[in-house]
Amino acid sequence: MYKAIFIDIDDTLLDYIPCCREAFDAAIGELKIKNEELKITQSEDDLFRLFFEISGRLFSEAKRGLHTVAEVMELYPAEFIEKSGLANERAEEMTDVFKHAFRAAWGNTHTLVPGAQEALEALQRKGYRLFAASNSFGHLQRSRLQHAGILHYFEDTYISMDIGYDKPDVRFYEEALRRCGLAANEVIMVGDSMTTDIIGAQQAGLDAIYFNRRNEPLASHLSSLAVIGSLAELEACVEVEEQRRNCRGHQ
Ligand SMILES: [Mg+2]
Repeated sequence: MYKAIFIDIDDTLLDYIPCCREAFDAAIGELKIKNEELKITQSEDDLFRLFFEISGRLFSEAKRGLHTVAEVMELYPAEFIEKSGLANERAEEMTDVFKHAFRAAWGNTHTLVPGAQEALEALQRKGYRLFAASNSFGHLQRSRLQHAGILHYFEDTYISMDIGYDKPDVRFYEEALRRCGLAANEVIMVGDSMTTDIIGAQQAGLDAIYFNRRNEPLASHLSSLAVIGSLAELEACVEVEEQRRNCRGHQ
């Protein structure tokens, strides 16, 4: 048996888009309070699309090593305020208001991915040690897991800003392994990002399960990759991967 399972948070256990929208709406509300002259000509849906496009682009650049996740957290509020034209004269101040309001609200967002609680319950019952592994602020991610009622399943949370490295950097995984006192072959990583969760973990010597939530087509060279389409499949998939690992070990 694997001794532990590392599990990504966003879009693996917590549903990223609704959480993002909730924090975004709170941040726009705060902008309106702090700036009574704020003229919003676009619909909030259009503004959210712009915001999501900007943050999505910056986070995917971070996955390619162009920024750290900490830098992205500073960059996207500024670019959003600038491109939305919401605060021409007071852009710097409004960026700050938006950023802090978004973060404060983000710490309360906790929409679960279907089956998350059941999957964690089943894995814990089978005796696996569970650890969250995520790129973000530690205190915010722990607060979100707490609000979602799933923090207690985790023995510890490995969050990039606490660990000092972002996934997919192998040093993230090495530090996480050091903290739980396990070897790479005793742990399997589960996540929805091919780059940060799967390739990152594999480069650090861990097995990995790809959560293909949106049913993305997979390249043919990935045919041997462990893939699940829903969290209801996770427990059985971990078992299959254990058998495959044991077969490899006896070859
Ligand atoms: Mg994720």
